[in-house]
Amino acid sequence: MLNFELYNPTRLLYGKGQIAEINKYIDKKSKVLIVYGGGSILKNGVHAQVIEALVGYDVIEFSGVEPNPKYETLVKAVEVIKREKVDFILGVGGGSVIDGVKFISAAVHYEGNSIDIVQKKLNVNWKAMPYGAILTLPATGSEMNCGAVVTIEATREKLSFSGEVLYPVFSVCDPMVIASLPQKQIANGITDAFIHVLEQYVTYPQNAPVQDRFAEGILQTLIEVAPKVLKDPTDYDAAMNYMWCCTMALNGLISKGVHEDWVTHAIGHELTALYGIDHGRTLAIIGPNLYRVMLETKKEKLSQLGRRVFNLNGSDDEVARETIDKMVEFFHSLGVQTKLSDYTDDGNRAVEWIVNRFEERGWVAMGEKKNITPAKVREIVKMSL
Ligand code: NAP
Ligand code: FE
Repeated sequence: MLNFELYNPTRLLYGKGQIAEINKYIDKKSKVLIVYGGGSILKNGVHAQVIEALVGYDVIEFSGVEPNPKYETLVKAVEVIKREKVDFILGVGGGSVIDGVKFISAAVHYEGNSIDIVQKKLNVNWKAMPYGAILTLPATGSEMNCGAVVTIEATREKLSFSGEVLYPVFSVCDPMVIASLPQKQIANGITDAFIHVLEQYVTYPQNAPVQDRFAEGILQTLIEVAPKVLKDPTDYDAAMNYMWCCTMALNGLISKGVHEDWVTHAIGHELTALYGIDHGRTLAIIGPNLYRVMLETKKEKLSQLGRRVFNLNGSDDEVARETIDKMVEFFHSLGVQTKLSDYTDDGNRAVEWIVNRFEERGWVAMGEKKNITPAKVREIVKMSL
């Protein structure tokens, strides 16, 4: 197992009714900016619960953070904060809203041009504005990590950045919010969390059996609860476990002591930037093909995954290959398609676009063994068409 440091200051309030508790963790004298998306929270009652919990506070709102939040929108919220002298932000939404709030929180006290935070992928190590999150879509783990993904519309760049100061002060995860989610978003969320686990697990063995079993436990639970949540999003236990899987998949715990990959995400971000395909779906397009192309270096973990999670038998080579087919089968069972041509007729141009962008950024030796080269990226994207 590799050396590691674990730090995570986010207070989690998990379960039904927890939105009512947020006022315990926001200073009574604070001026609060509620940040949200396109309005789902107005329809499903979450906004009303938040307003009730904030009675007595000075509250203002900023709405319109879009899926795959745009830098161009978020800077407007930064202006509001400065003008209105806000001192606490409350993000209410899915990963897009929470990531957007991370950018806002970082940009408020940033001295230079805030586009650099995204474009130069700055490590946010200056003072950030404190914020809390109310999660309405289990998927990203953004509610308990310090990373964010923001899109610069003008240049079609979808990039991640992070910083230790960007953990939420608290996050509320009430599984009752799942009832109003469209099936498509639940499927996206399950897929995203599944691939988060794989990006931290399908690397090469590190004598870290606890880490392996945490990861396998999350994958097994996702496979178990997925059909239940899709069939009945009001199934409270299934919804609660789905939500907890998503948080655990990317709160920094399962990556400790092991190598990580993240190339499926890097390529996936480009597909969203190019075609607007939902984040989770881009991962289902790329992930299985990345494992096919990189089979030799990932075989040991793929076959362990196949034996332990999918109950497969045979040689390592056979099991590894069959495991990838099982993954694809699982995504299909959620209604998530796994070919770029399922989403666009214009897939071919993705190949050179992605290879060129990665080369421009110097991303020429990626993955846990630094062996995902531009040639491999080309092969992965071509295989995904
Ligand atoms: P999302 O983009 O936040 O939300 C997708 C859609 O679901 C929105 O239209 C939203 O509508 C709607 N929605 C959310 N909650 C709802 C509810 N309870 N009922 C009905 N509709 C609801 O989706 P996401 O998958 O959570 O986030 C994706 C973003 O996160 C991507 O940009 C991705 O790159 C990023 N990401 C971040 C991390 C990280 O660690 N930070 C990891 C993976 C991915 P409204 O706008 O109307 O609310
Ligand atoms: Fe993701």
